[in-house]
Amino acid sequence: EGGGVMAAEGPARPGPGALALLGPAPGAPSCPHGPALLFVKTSHGKEGGRRFYACSACRDRKDCNFFQWEDEKVSEMRLAAREEYNRSHQPSFTHRQNVDRYKNFVQLPLSKRRFCQECQQLLLPAEWEKHLDHQFLCDISTAQLKSPSQLLYPLENKKTNAQYLFADRSCQFLLNLLIDLGFRRVLSVGTPRLHEMIQSKASQEEDFSVRSLLLDIDFRYSQFYTEDEFCHYNMFNHYFFGGEAARETCRKFLFEENGERVIMVTDPPFGGLVEALASSFKKLMAMWKETEKEDHDNQEMPMFWIFPYFFESRILDFFPSFSMMDYQVDYDNHALYKHGKTGRRQSPVRIFTNLTPSMIVLPEEEGYRFCTICQRYVSSGNQHCQICNSCTSKDGRRWKHCVLCKKCVKPSWFHCNNCNCCTLQKHSCEKTCVGCFVCGKAGHKRSTCPSLSRT
Ligand code: SAH
Ligand code: ZN
Ligand code: ZN
Ligand code: ZN
Ligand code: ZN
Repeated sequence: EGGGVMAAEGPARPGPGALALLGPAPGAPSCPHGPALLFVKTSHGKEGGRRFYACSACRDRKDCNFFQWEDEKVSEMRLAAREEYNRSHQPSFTHRQNVDRYKNFVQLPLSKRRFCQECQQLLLPAEWEKHLDHQFLCDISTAQLKSPSQLLYPLENKKTNAQYLFADRSCQFLLNLLIDLGFRRVLSVGTPRLHEMIQSKASQEEDFSVRSLLLDIDFRYSQFYTEDEFCHYNMFNHYFFGGEAARETCRKFLFEENGERVIMVTDPPFGGLVEALASSFKKLMAMWKETEKEDHDNQEMPMFWIFPYFFESRILDFFPSFSMMDYQVDYDNHALYKHGKTGRRQSPVRIFTNLTPSMIVLPEEEGYRFCTICQRYVSSGNQHCQICNSCTSKDGRRWKHCVLCKKCVKPSWFHCNNCNCCTLQKHSCEKTCVGCFVCGKAGHKRSTCPSLSRT
C-alpha cells in the first residue's frame, strides 16, 4: 500500500522491548493519523536512549509505520514527500461527499440499494460495475441503515481498532442510566453502538429527547451520519481530522443550552496508552468547561470511561475524582469474556465515573445490591469487609481478608511467608510481590504493564 516513502525513512529502529510514552509533544510531526506521540525505550524501568515519534493510533507497524527520531534532521524533500503521503492516505471520499451519497442512496428503491462488503461502502448504481467481483449485500433497508454497527464488520485488529460492540443489554442499561441521571446529550467517544441506539430511538420515538455526537476514528461511519452527528476523531492525540469545523461542531455540542446536560461516554481500545487517552479526555473536559465559564466553576464534565478493572489505579492516577463501578459491561463479539463457570459472562470491563457512586443504580435483577456503608451498588458476591470497611472485590467474586497483608485479596490467593505477601499457590518465590518493574504497582509484571506499549 504505497508505503515506500515511510518505510524508507530513518535508520534502524529500537528493537523489541518496553516503551514509555512521553506524551503529545508540541511541534510533533504528523502521520495520516494526526500528530505522532513521543516515546522512549525503557530498560529495567529506567528511561534511557533516544526518544522517537511514532503513530498515536496504530501500535501495529503494519497499520502505520510512521517513525522519526526526536533529534533527527528531516530534509525539506522528505517533509514534502511525507505531506504528500499523508494527503494520499486520507479516505477516498470526504465526509461531505459521503453525506451527499447517503442522500442519494436513500432515494433509491430497495432493489437498487447495495452495500459492498469488501470495500465496506454503500454503492450507487453507477459504481456497481467496479464492485462486481466483490461480495455485496442487496436490498439494504432503512432499519439496516439505522444500525451501521451491524452492517459494518467489526474491525478486530487487536492492536489498532479492536472494535468490541456492547451487548444489547449493556447498551440499553447505559442509555437508561444516563437518561435517569437527567442527561440529554451524550458525547459518544468510540461508542458507535450507543450512538446508534440513541439516534435510532430519536428517529422513532417522538418524546425521546436525547442527542448524541459520535467521535470515532472509524471513518466508515461518515457514510451514515452527518457532520453534526459524527466527527472523525483520534482519541489518542485529540485530533479532529475534519479540522476547525469539526472541532467547532464538538464545542457547540458541549455547550449546554436550555439546561440540556451533557455526559461523555467512552469505551477506548484496551491496548494501553492510558496517559494518551487521559490527556485527550482532559482536553475534551476543558472544551466543555470553556463553553460556559461561570456555571462550571470547580466542576468536571460528567464522564463514563468504560475500561477493564485492572486499569483502576492507572485511571485514578489521572482522574482522582473517578471511582469504579461494579457493573460488568458485556460485549457481543468478545469471546474472551464469555467464560465463567455458571455460564454467565464474567466481563472484566467496568464503568469509571466522576459522578457520585450512590447515583449509579445497578440492576438488582442482575444481582447487584446497594451497600449502605459504601454508599454504592456492588456485585452480589462483593461482601463488605469489616476490617477494610469497604466492599473490596474487583472481579465480582468474594474476596478474603488477609490480616498479614492488611487487605482483601483474590479468593484463589494465599499468604506466602517467604514472599511476605499474598499470591497464587503456584508461584516461584522472589519473582512475585515486588510489583511491576516499570510502574511499581502490584498485580502485573513488567511485560504486561498497562503504562507501556510494546513494539
Ligand atoms: N463498545 C463500543 C465500541 C468500543 S470498541 C460500542 O459498542 O459502541 C472501540 C471503539 O473505539 C471503536 O468504535 C473504534 O473504532 C474506536 N477507536 C479505536 N481507536 C480509536 C482512536 N484512536 N480514536 C478514536 N476512536 C478509536
Ligand atoms: Zn499513523
Ligand atoms: Zn460496602
Ligand atoms: Zn479486607
Ligand atoms: Zn497476605
